[in-house]
Amino acid sequence: MTSSVATGAGARDLDRALDAMVAALGHDAVLTAPAELLEFRDPYTYRESDEFDASAVVMPTSTEQVQAVVRIANEHRVPLWTFSQGRNNTYGGPAPRQRGSVLVNLRQMNRILEIDTELAYAVVEPGVRWFDLNDALVEQGADLWTSIPDLGWGSIIGNSLEYGIGYSPYGDHARNLCGLEVVLADGTLLRTGMGAMPGNRAWHTYPHSYGPSFAGLFQQSNYGIVTSAGWGLLPRPEVYSACWARFSGYEALGQVVDALRGLLLDRTIQNTPMFNRGFDLDENGNGVFTPDGDGWFARFALYGREDQVEAQYRAVEATVGRIPGVRLDRRTFDGRDLAGPANHDERVQRGIPDMDLLDPTMLPYGENTAHLDFSPVGPARGSAVVATEKLVRSLYAGAGLSYVNGLWLTARTALHISTTFFDPRDEEQTRSVYANYGRMVGELAATGYAPYRTNLQHMDLVADQFSFGDHAQRRLSETLKNALDPNGILAPGKSGIWPADRASL
Ligand code: ADP
Repeated sequence: MTSSVATGAGARDLDRALDAMVAALGHDAVLTAPAELLEFRDPYTYRESDEFDASAVVMPTSTEQVQAVVRIANEHRVPLWTFSQGRNNTYGGPAPRQRGSVLVNLRQMNRILEIDTELAYAVVEPGVRWFDLNDALVEQGADLWTSIPDLGWGSIIGNSLEYGIGYSPYGDHARNLCGLEVVLADGTLLRTGMGAMPGNRAWHTYPHSYGPSFAGLFQQSNYGIVTSAGWGLLPRPEVYSACWARFSGYEALGQVVDALRGLLLDRTIQNTPMFNRGFDLDENGNGVFTPDGDGWFARFALYGREDQVEAQYRAVEATVGRIPGVRLDRRTFDGRDLAGPANHDERVQRGIPDMDLLDPTMLPYGENTAHLDFSPVGPARGSAVVATEKLVRSLYAGAGLSYVNGLWLTARTALHISTTFFDPRDEEQTRSVYANYGRMVGELAATGYAPYRTNLQHMDLVADQFSFGDHAQRRLSETLKNALDPNGILAPGKSGIWPADRASL
């Protein structure tokens, strides 16, 4: 098999590797046709750019096939790039950091291996989407809900390995994984945590290990390919309230952040409040953009027995509700009411996946709309949040770009996500949006902030900001990379981690 996209490995080595993958996985499991590869470009870069083109896509259906792919890649020194669903849009989608990599597309490894209704967890393969898990829970009549992010098409494993956030009390997805199975660069199959002991009963229930915990090594890194993971579920509460706080301006923003932080720290609120400015849904659920406005809304939810939820809401009224200019609303549902929640905010915090937010994000330029998210993290302190929002606003204004805001609040952290829209067919506009992102990384670093996750174009720049101790973290990452993956075949460049022999890629 041949590909039209070159790798440093050399065309002959790549062809041999692809032939070996066809022999191991079957002809239909390897794609090289240029038209088929187009689908796996980063949808949010300049449309004509081939900078992040893959040479081929390989689609294993089992852990053994993933091991075979890794062994072949080592033999022929061909770089791989793994994705689970590849819906990581604005952070690269399915596209590889290193041009010419072979994409390991795990969409077909989509089995739900287990649902334990007593201990409230599932074990899933990488291709399992939020839609699939929710469907399985409904089908089984399991009284369990899953945490989900805003779009239902992504995978549990891909999102969680990237530290994604969801909206149930188990919304810190990175922490909600428990017990991974991982193919290492040399083809070894590793089980993290208690799973390292054959037959251990606590693999998907005990979050730590005997000895060091290695699960974190496989998050936002390039040390392995995760082929299954345990995932915590929420027992259906008796009652669920979706709540909103609407307000305007920076002063109220700071006060709402401080009030919600108090309620998060003492666990009155157990999910992740999400704030929005510049984007809203009208009464019919249609998206509306108001990028120049200063109206905000924060959505959050309460879960529990009826009397608990009522007491929690009274605490919300007594704190957030007392802030001048804040309007509180809520809708309460019986936990058994499967059909109840009508709009996206209500559904997403209940764990019912949808794609409602995709269409509104296409408003600015129709189906050709792309967006770039800038997502620095900082402390959940009202004054710090306001200072950062003002800085971000001045930087976008300086670049002549309009944007909308999101703000995700956990007990101690504020995750600021600003989004600017552009037309990826317009090379100049696309370049200027990306150039502005790079400038913002530098400006925010000067105030002690860095993105929690970034796009392919800025992985090195963001890694550069973590320079404490003469880049001690990068040096450790590279030491691990060279020890675990001496041929540098797994996702070279991911998170700014490159193999020693980068030149031959
Ligand atoms: P989503 O499921 O949300 O679409 P992706 O599949 O795009 O997310 O995954 C996001 C990123 O996480 C990928 O770019 C890759 O770096 C990493 N990743 C995804 N799945 C795996 C996996 N199974 N093993 C190792 N890394 C993975």
